[in-house]
Amino acid sequence: MGTLLRHARLVTGEVVDVQLDGDVVAAVLPAGTAPAVPDGQQLDLSGYLLDTAFAEPHAHLDKVFTADRVDARGGTLQDAMTQYEAVLRAATDADVQQRARRALRSLVASGSTAVRTHVGCGRLLGVRAIESLVAVREQMADLVDLQIVAHIGGPGPEETWRQHRRRLAAALDAGADVVGGNPALDRDPSAAVQECVAVAAEAGVPLDLHIDETTDPSVATLRHLAQLAPQAGVPVTASHCVSLGAMDAGLVAEVAAEVAEANIAVVTLPATNLYLQGRSGWPRLRGLTAVDALTAAGVQVAAGGDNVRDPFNPVGRLDPLETASLLVLAGHQDTARAWQLVTGAARGVLGLPPAGPAAGARADLVAVRADSVGEAIALAPGERMVWRAGQLISRTAVDHSGPAHEGER
Ligand SMILES: [Zn+2]
Repeated sequence: MGTLLRHARLVTGEVVDVQLDGDVVAAVLPAGTAPAVPDGQQLDLSGYLLDTAFAEPHAHLDKVFTADRVDARGGTLQDAMTQYEAVLRAATDADVQQRARRALRSLVASGSTAVRTHVGCGRLLGVRAIESLVAVREQMADLVDLQIVAHIGGPGPEETWRQHRRRLAAALDAGADVVGGNPALDRDPSAAVQECVAVAAEAGVPLDLHIDETTDPSVATLRHLAQLAPQAGVPVTASHCVSLGAMDAGLVAEVAAEVAEANIAVVTLPATNLYLQGRSGWPRLRGLTAVDALTAAGVQVAAGGDNVRDPFNPVGRLDPLETASLLVLAGHQDTARAWQLVTGAARGVLGLPPAGPAAGARADLVAVRADSVGEAIALAPGERMVWRAGQLISRTAVDHSGPAHEGER
């Protein structure tokens, strides 16, 4: 028993029938030529654009939906961290799980079938939030591939790396998949990078660090990571890399080449960077990394949504099409490239097998009611269908009524 998706428009503009068999795409045929599936599901995708499902390579599901619990004044990274401490002290495990599930449901409905979330495991929380997210990962295993990054944030006054190492190890024992942290916030960022690389290498798990989340061009922890990454023997991702966007062009090209050589993937996070960065000084820097220079150097780049409705970003829609739109406006990517950064490229950074409407690929697909990639990014239509491993897991309909909608397609 298979599934047949009829009359779907691909990103190339071609209209096709797509046969799914089990968790893979069996065939992509010219529209109207696929034989009916007697016992299977058949869906007419006329008016829909069909492509690889979105993947969210960088979320903070332990923090999401806490914006209304804090005083949002300030708006710098330091302000957000201070405000978040107060949230943390009051958050119960049930609260963390409920907010994380709500955010994941939105991400899935938007078309994301894989999500990597960074989760705090520092002095205030220990492994509590990790355990909560591990429980959520089990509860929602049929809907989404959830990767959990054990994230050590800013150090406390008496913190030592011996303590951090113990916390990261405990988080991995509790079920985290990836080692993370924010070395630029440490008293000694270079030592922090070294420690995080060592923990990941020892455990044999990927490393995904918040790197250089500042517009100060003299901060270049990324270069140190590029020196250490090749010996780690595990996949390494650098998220943010904001300062790279503030360096002069010659230096950017040099660093981008080092990052490519070290096989480090970079995740750009326009929403939170636009909100938190460039609050002081003039002219205002917008805080995105150097996406074009990294791409030109051959670095694997993807884009994520980062914080949503928390002290680090009071807005956000849990929709990769919002991230894609910001990449066009703030990152000067064309719509095709922006689309790629939130679909196939994002899956690649997460180490997932290729998916999409191609024979043999995993049947993780999103259909958006739009005529083209440009229209999908511009209008972010709510009407979507989402398949994970060949199963339809979400279908969102929009009910327009009233005379204003007469004559609509
Ligand atoms: Zn982040």
